[in-house]
Amino acid sequence: MRRFTALLLAVLTLLSLTACGGQDASVPEEDTEDPGGEPVEVLPPEPEPYDILDPTVMPEGGVRDGVTYVAYDGIVEHLFFHPVIAYPELAFDGDAQANGLDDYMVTVDEYNKILQSVYDKGYVLVDIGDVWSETTGEDGQPKMVKNTLYLPEGKKPLILSYDDTNYYDYMLQNGFAYKLIIGEDGKIASWGKDPQGNEVVSRDLDAIPILDKFVEEHPDFSPFGAKGCLSLTGYQGILGYRTQTDTKSWTEAQEANRQKEIEAVKPIIAELKRTGWTFGSHTWGHIRLGTKSMESIQADTQRWFDEVGSLVGPTTILFYPHGERPDGNDWQNTGPVFRYLQSQGFRVFASVGIESFSYIKKDICAVICDRLHPDGTTLRHSRDRYLQFYDAKDIMDVAVRPQREIDWA
Ligand SMILES: [Zn+2]
Repeated sequence: MRRFTALLLAVLTLLSLTACGGQDASVPEEDTEDPGGEPVEVLPPEPEPYDILDPTVMPEGGVRDGVTYVAYDGIVEHLFFHPVIAYPELAFDGDAQANGLDDYMVTVDEYNKILQSVYDKGYVLVDIGDVWSETTGEDGQPKMVKNTLYLPEGKKPLILSYDDTNYYDYMLQNGFAYKLIIGEDGKIASWGKDPQGNEVVSRDLDAIPILDKFVEEHPDFSPFGAKGCLSLTGYQGILGYRTQTDTKSWTEAQEANRQKEIEAVKPIIAELKRTGWTFGSHTWGHIRLGTKSMESIQADTQRWFDEVGSLVGPTTILFYPHGERPDGNDWQNTGPVFRYLQSQGFRVFASVGIESFSYIKKDICAVICDRLHPDGTTLRHSRDRYLQFYDAKDIMDVAVRPQREIDWA
């Protein structure tokens, strides 16, 4: 009887798989026979194909899918976010973190409205790695050049980056997702807990699956398949998985858990890459590159390669923690720390600023750039500067944020 029930369950599982999703959820035949009465392993559905195209190449005849492409050599705008706040009532509960979260983060509602607005204003996503290339100069030395992009006529390019997508411990109590997972539909989702403590798997509560969904619904927002660049530290692991080491006492049990987390995050990384996400370094320890000693910066960089780069693969992008530039925070300076970081393979050095400034260095193969930062500070105080993307008046969730000053109110 038990065996029959197991078989029946297996058949029901198969039936329900075939019935929903509209995809071919075929399960290999050996799994369906269920010789030992073991539970049937349910395989995730085959992923839908996802095309990633090169925006530096003009489509043949200048037309793709009926859309005319034209050369673009203007400014490439760059916006960056932190993880978004899923539950404002946990973030803005008056605790010690509330004002910091108000300053540096946006809520899910605000983020949805920002994506809709930049889409409506004609921006299309490009990957930061496609905007500049390394080439050889007339003097035989390597140098960076800005690429001509071939965009759908009338569109403007936009880079998105996402800092600290590590889902730090402090975020877990403050209304953020806990980690990225692969949902039953095979797509990236977030896992977390609602204010009542119930587990929630969703594609609507974190910046990454929200953008995935937005691009599914508006494919012309990402004509090349680009999403965003995830800027990762390493000191509390990555993407919600605690893959980091500790230099102090480190037990075998801790190492075994770390290895488990490493195995668990690998398919997440693979799926993110497959669907247009890329990765950059935000240093291992979120360190201040303007003031730390060379020795500690070198140790930190090595640790990032060992614990993060080993998982996400090589990158040429470095996002400065706190926006602080190396060697005394002077963008015109090419000091010893900058030279060291460049020698480690970094070519694009991104800070934070009041416009999408970029500058190709003349004395070293590198480009520096600034990013704009949609967050509480700019929603409250920089409405004008962001009008080309959105109107803070339409975006800001005044009712859920702390009662603090707003310039435009
Ligand atoms: Zn950061």
